[in-house]
Amino acid sequence: MRREKMETILLSADAAGLEQAAAWIKNGEVVGMPTETVYGLAADACNPEAVARVFAAKGRPADNPLIVHIADMAMLPELVSEIPELALTLAEKFWPGPLTMIFKKKDCIPSITSGGLDTVGIRMPSHPAALELIRRAGVPIAAPSGNVSGYPSPTSVQHMVRDMTGKIAAIVDGGECSVGVESTVICFENEDTVRILRPGGVTREMLLTAARHAVIDPAILHELQEGQAVRSPGMKYQHYSPRARVILAEGDYDRFCSYVNAQEEEDIFALVFDGEGEALSVPVMTYGRDEQEQARQLFASLRELDDRGAGCVYVRAPKPEGVGLAVYNRLIRAAGFEVIQV
Ligand code: AMP
Ligand code: MG
Repeated sequence: MRREKMETILLSADAAGLEQAAAWIKNGEVVGMPTETVYGLAADACNPEAVARVFAAKGRPADNPLIVHIADMAMLPELVSEIPELALTLAEKFWPGPLTMIFKKKDCIPSITSGGLDTVGIRMPSHPAALELIRRAGVPIAAPSGNVSGYPSPTSVQHMVRDMTGKIAAIVDGGECSVGVESTVICFENEDTVRILRPGGVTREMLLTAARHAVIDPAILHELQEGQAVRSPGMKYQHYSPRARVILAEGDYDRFCSYVNAQEEEDIFALVFDGEGEALSVPVMTYGRDEQEQARQLFASLRELDDRGAGCVYVRAPKPEGVGLAVYNRLIRAAGFEVIQV
């Protein structure tokens, strides 16, 4: 759906701003919504025209489903036809929070929202502005990450303004995102086993406090082969990529430095951990000390590297443990699977 360039209004996350944002959503418009994971593009999940505007604003492939956000447990049975016991236990522990669970959908979720699947991912976000916006709109809210498709996700209102000005009705300023990577997406294999389709803020270790088994889907750490079936459509696409070429380098810091210092491409940058960088002869940016900070800072760092004119970025690989698994998963995609051992 092509539309004229529209004025995009910046709203505060106070009662007046959220009331205005909710009115736009009830009207079938799209609003930038802060959440604790990343900013999203919020629309009425049950209104196909509104959802079509989300796909258009992002340039998102039609088979990549949107996650539907709810504000309370009463909304869940309205949207899904089966709720496993384990889902209730997980909801009790991790909602509101960065966990998306896949259920069989009811007919009120249009096919455009679910990317043509008969399932739907549901999440209850913990950001107070997101919860309040859903309550005021009075509808379930479909919201993918608010970036232009393929680019790193937005974790601040400035990122949203950059990507979405002229394309959506309004953006709610809810400050910086506290988690910084998208939600953990899981589906249910049987009564005590979940499968992690996308790693995020709720880690495998956390899931194992409620589920007996938590299988890591192979697509999280490995490139899909041509024609291979995919459980999580988002894993098919090049994703999270800045304009700069990203190369993920595994190995210790000394070897990383000698390797990068010996490279001769133009506009090389290094993205390393806090406290590192002295031994490098190329411009350096850092993205945190531990995996929590790395998750929070990764996308902003990738965007800033573009702003600084990086042509090629060597990135220190995080440990793929805890929320570091989510950081690693985003980085191998940002790198188009260009992972080297130094
Ligand atoms: P985003 O909206 O950008 O955070 O991406 C949402 C991702 O969640 C999609 O790309 C899918 O990989 C995953 N997802 C959403 N709904 C489903 C579903 N019904 N089945 C499997 N994966 C889903
Ligand atoms: Mg996304």
